[in-house]
Amino acid sequence: MENKSVNFDDVSIAFSYKSDAELKRMFFVYRLIQKPFMVKFLTRVAFWIIKYKLPFKFLLKNTMFQVFCAGVDLNETKKTMAHLKKYDVYTVLDYVAEGDKSEVGFKKNLQTIIKNIDCVKNESPNAFVGVKISGLEDVEYLKTFKQADFVEKFKTEHRLQLLHERVEKICQEGDKNNVKVYFDAEERNTQDIFDYLIEEMMRKYNRQKAVVYNTLQMYLKDRIDYLNKCISEAKNEHFFIGMKLVRGAYVEKEREEAKKLGLESPVFDTKQGTDDSFNHAVQICLENHDLVATCIATHNMESIQKAIILIHEYQINDHENKVFFSQLYGMSDNLTFNLAKNKYNSSKYVPYGEVEKAIPYLLRRAEENTSIEGQVSREFEMLKQEKNRRKI
Ligand SMILES: Cc1cc2nc3c(=O)[nH]c(=O)nc-3n(C[C@H](O)[C@H](O)[C@H](O)COP(=O)(O)OP(=O)(O)OC[C@H]3O[C@@H](n4cnc5c(N)ncnc54)[C@H](O)[C@@H]3O)c2cc1C
Repeated sequence: MENKSVNFDDVSIAFSYKSDAELKRMFFVYRLIQKPFMVKFLTRVAFWIIKYKLPFKFLLKNTMFQVFCAGVDLNETKKTMAHLKKYDVYTVLDYVAEGDKSEVGFKKNLQTIIKNIDCVKNESPNAFVGVKISGLEDVEYLKTFKQADFVEKFKTEHRLQLLHERVEKICQEGDKNNVKVYFDAEERNTQDIFDYLIEEMMRKYNRQKAVVYNTLQMYLKDRIDYLNKCISEAKNEHFFIGMKLVRGAYVEKEREEAKKLGLESPVFDTKQGTDDSFNHAVQICLENHDLVATCIATHNMESIQKAIILIHEYQINDHENKVFFSQLYGMSDNLTFNLAKNKYNSSKYVPYGEVEKAIPYLLRRAEENTSIEGQVSREFEMLKQEKNRRKI
């Protein structure tokens, strides 16, 4: 069985996949985003580039984009995927282009996801794609449905039927090609529709093993109950559950939204509340590993260490198909590469897409890095250590 204690401080392993030039670029970018005012400035610049179509694409491409994205198209991205594979790190292929809210845009996104499935299918036994349902239908439209009525509306509303067809096509292709499909979680007020659709797909496509995965944002107070409900349904109806566990990316937005509507915040009031809920969900999933395949998607070392202990406690020897770890490309390489080195299933969410269309994604990465306490300085310190180590 794999090593129980993983040393996540080994920077030589963490950055072994980066050339000296790539390491320097990463160091430069992390130095930039260490300063919140710099992130604000970059946000402005990105806004001007989009609005006035300024010819500074190369600036972004050679800095933030190269650190957090794998390429502008599949050809460039395939090189990154092959490179990661050399270090036993799997790719979760993720097309990041955001923004096009037209029917044409949704169809194009669907085709792209199907191409992504085709691109990763030979990575088996573990091939993955990430899917954002907001790329398949306008979330503003989805938000107009109340939980009580959308089930009926799927039978009558043409747009909902189209969404259903798109989601189903993706799951069919995933199933046919042995590619696991991770549906991302977004804002709480669209999650009930997402849950409904994804549960239906799990019932249909997760008969032999988990192909379809939902994402649970464990900062939401209702998710442990939802997880238990899913597990009990899967037990009774004989299908497998796929769950990607995250803490959740929209704390402030959720709180503001609830406040505006005079409702209680759906998010835990403290970081500790979220941490406990995340770790509890990991424990529930791993305890039920005969039924649940889990992706532990986090940059939190403590949660990963706890999960490793549970993998051993529950003797999940065949965790090849049961437990996956994942971090975002350009972040927490010390976790990804040290996990892989110690033979745990380790993967990177690997985003790609045209530079202009990836801007919102890049800005979220910069903001997220600065808003999570100590995240940027931790990354920066590790990069500095590795730069110094290579000098010697
Ligand atoms: C591979 C991967 C896939 C992801 N996919 C998704 C996705 O589909 N949907 C999505 O929403 N996010 C997604 N994320 C982002 C994720 O939800 C987190 O925002 C991010 O990973 C930071 O959390 P952490 O567990 O890595 O680390 P930590 O630094 O330990 O946790 C930070 C998180 O804790 C929570 N938090 C912080 N302060 C408070 C507070 N005061 N009160 C309550 N909670 C607080 C927030 O969720 C914050 O993001 C993904 C992340 C990864 C690594």
